[in-house]
Amino acid sequence: MQISESIAVIQQKIKEAQSRSPYAADNVLLLAVSKTRSVDMIQQAMAAGLRDFGENKVQEWMGKYESLPQVNWHLIGHLQTNKVKYVIGKTKLIHSLDSLPLATEIEKRSQQAQVETDVLVQVNIAEEDSKSGLLVPELPGFLEKMADFPHVKVKGLMTIGPNVTDLNQIRPVFAELRGLFLQEKARALPHCVWQYLSMGMSYDYPIAVEEGANIVRVGSSIFGPRVYS
Ligand SMILES: *Cc1c(COP(=O)(O)O)cnc(C)c1O
Repeated sequence: MQISESIAVIQQKIKEAQSRSPYAADNVLLLAVSKTRSVDMIQQAMAAGLRDFGENKVQEWMGKYESLPQVNWHLIGHLQTNKVKYVIGKTKLIHSLDSLPLATEIEKRSQQAQVETDVLVQVNIAEEDSKSGLLVPELPGFLEKMADFPHVKVKGLMTIGPNVTDLNQIRPVFAELRGLFLQEKARALPHCVWQYLSMGMSYDYPIAVEEGANIVRVGSSIFGPRVYS
């Protein structure tokens, strides 16, 4: 399938999921995960109307950023503190804030550059060792501490579903993140804005939309299987 056709299919499936569920958001952003993809493929997705792209490796992303600075770039992978200096001022949203040292570095670099950096806090609900992110009990205290980081703007939460084929095991993870999101929204910490709930990938984005995601991060369903060299 052409990239443009794949995007149309996904947008239709997102609409159907929205109409099936009382929890679904009115507007869902399709974030195209372009890791391992060429600038040419990204441009094909842009021609089909997409403006938001996600990358997980800073070094790989830098070259694409030079070619396509007008894109809304999202960083979705674990971010090492020593890479922060390369990304500040270039991201629309960092989805993977998961530690105080990382927040400290984002704060320092953002202050130097006189920008505010929008971030999501990544939560490891599935509790798989391979995933980064805060554990659920750590989240409330972590969000309180973010008051000390005025250039780091928390805009919501992100999670990665468990790596299983049974969608019935994935749904409760997404439902739990929605619950945490609503709980924190109700707590109304003055320095946080409860705007984005980022969950769902190629395999499970319809479920994520049903459970309230308003950003889905989709790679292989748009661009085809990834080939790592
Ligand atoms: C790679 C990746 C995705 C997209 O995965 P697909 O299965 O190709 O849709 C989404 N989120 C994160 C954090 C990723 O690393």
